[in-house]
Parts: sequence; C-alpha cells; structure tokens
Amino acid sequence: MRRTDKYAVFGNPIAHSKSPRIHALFAASLNQHIDYQKRLAPIGNFAGELQRFFDEGGVGANVTVPFKRDAFALARSASLRAQQAGAANFLMWRDDHWFCDNTDGAGLVRDIETNLHTSLKDKNVLLLGAGGAARGVIGPLFLRSPRQIVVVNRTFERATELVSPYKNEFAARALSVDALVAESMKFDVVINATSSSLTGLLPVPENAHIFAPDALAYDMMYGKQPTIFMNWASAQGAVGVADGLGMLVEQAAESYVQWRGELPHAAPIIAQLRAELARE
Ligand code: NDP
Repeated sequence: MRRTDKYAVFGNPIAHSKSPRIHALFAASLNQHIDYQKRLAPIGNFAGELQRFFDEGGVGANVTVPFKRDAFALARSASLRAQQAGAANFLMWRDDHWFCDNTDGAGLVRDIETNLHTSLKDKNVLLLGAGGAARGVIGPLFLRSPRQIVVVNRTFERATELVSPYKNEFAARALSVDALVAESMKFDVVINATSSSLTGLLPVPENAHIFAPDALAYDMMYGKQPTIFMNWASAQGAVGVADGLGMLVEQAAESYVQWRGELPHAAPIIAQLRAELARE
C-alpha cells in the first residue's frame, strides 16, 4: 500500500545529505509527520533501489549526484524545467507512474529574490559553469526577466551548448574565460555554479573585474566558512555575498509543497541549519 508520508533522498555517496534534516524541520514547522530517509543507491542501479523504495510504499524522492539524469530518464512524465535541464532532483508517484521535476532553479531564484532581496528583473547576470547545476537553473533564471544571462565555463563548448536552446527567445550569450576578462563586462548578479570552490580554486582569473556596483555574488557551494569565491568577490567589491545553503533549503521547500500541498517558510530553517553548520 502507498504511504502518503514516505519519502527519501537517493545518492551515492549520501551520508552527508542534509535533506532528511531539512524535511524533518519543514514537517515540524507545519505540524505534519513524515518519514524521510537517506537511500544509498548502487552506481548503475538507481532504478532497482527506487523500485525497492516503491515496493516499501514510498511516494516521493529527492535525487542527488550522480543519479539526476537517471531519475529524469526513468520518469514517465516531466515538468518543463526538468525537460530543459535533462535531469531531475524530484520524483513523485502519480496514479501509475513517476513524475519528475527539477527544483534547483526555483530554489535558487527564491533564495536570491526573497531571502536576499535581490530582484533579477533587468539585471545583467553572469552564470559561471555549464554542468548539471547550471543546466538546472538557467531556464528558471530567464523566467525572472533578466536583461541578459552570460554563461562562462572553463570548457567553452559546454557554455555554447548550454545557451543554445535559449538564444532565440532570450538574451543568452556564451563567453570564454579569456573573453570575459578581455571585455571587462560588469554584472549585477554573479552565480558560481561550478564546483571550483570544492577544490579551493576560483572559476575565473583572480584579476577579473566583473562586479557592477551593488553586485550580488552567489556561490552554490556552502560550508562552515565562506567559500574562496565569496572571499574573492568581497575583495573585488561585491556588496552582497551568499553561499548555496539557502538554495538547498528552498529547492527542498519546492519539493515539499508538491508532495504535501503546503510551502514551508524557509528563512527560519536556513538560520537553524546555519547555526548547526557552525557547530559541526
Ligand atoms: P558538474 O560536475 O556537473 O559541473 C561542474 C562544473 O564546474 C563544470 O562547469 C566544470 O567545468 C566546472 N569546474 C569544475 N572545476 C573547475 C575549476 N577548477 N575551474 C573552473 N570551472 C570548474 O557539477 P554540478 O553542476 O552538479 O555542481 C556544481 C556545484 O553546484 C557543486 O559545488 C555543487 O555542490 C553545487 N550545487 C549546489 C546546490 C545547492 O542546492 N546549493 C544544488 C546543485 C549543485 P568544465 O565543464 O570545464 O568541466
């Protein structure tokens, strides 16, 4: 029998995932009860582990690295934003099949616009990176009517590929790292969607001057300390700097509301996780 409260996050590795904690805090804040577990799926057999979860009564799942493309491929119906990303971090059992979505972009947008009070409308946006995270957010970013989105990636061809479906309808442009430095363009919002901070590196040369006055610098990575990108952006004059903890919580809230019909208020939960992170 389907259990209406049984959810899980799938990944490999998965031990580090904060999703069970976030969803437990959401449920408590709304006086609801849910059962949300971590599931380690074997590489190459996401489908088998999802089937096992389904057989145990599971109705919804979040999906993280490296299974987001598998989740998209396996679902029989998909939201537009999951189709745009070609990847899904959200699954929900609907009548007789899995429906998938990608909530990363909505999470990022809500964190920037609601929590960080920065409208994207008419802004010059620089998106650094062209991997899975960048693919997940570019469509939802365009829906907020920025003046333009420039995508810069270490491997230029991937940036070109990422902007190509958007070029006819939106002001989308791919630039090489060298051209970014040479053109001295300035951006109101700079989003680091690369994994460079993980290895203590910057995604652009240290001498790049890319921040407009009042710019927001956003690193999708998060941690106990500000990332190297955040420290560099502050030194370069960015007025707002943020890490990706808010995006993580907001993309989870976007899952929760689809499963359970109520949108949790993320701000106090972001603050609580921030405090817990400081104690880790
Ligand atoms: P991918 O592996 O799919 O893509 C990695 C991207 O980073 C590529 O564009 C790659 O460039 C670039 N890159 C890696 N190292 C460097 C470097 N040293 N210099 C410049 N560019 C580099 O990863 P994802 O897109 O899935 O994730 C990216 C980041 O976003 C991760 O840190 C992840 O944790 C974070 N994330 C955060 C979320 C949140 O909720 N806060 C949600 C999703 C992701 P190239 O193409 O040249 O290899």
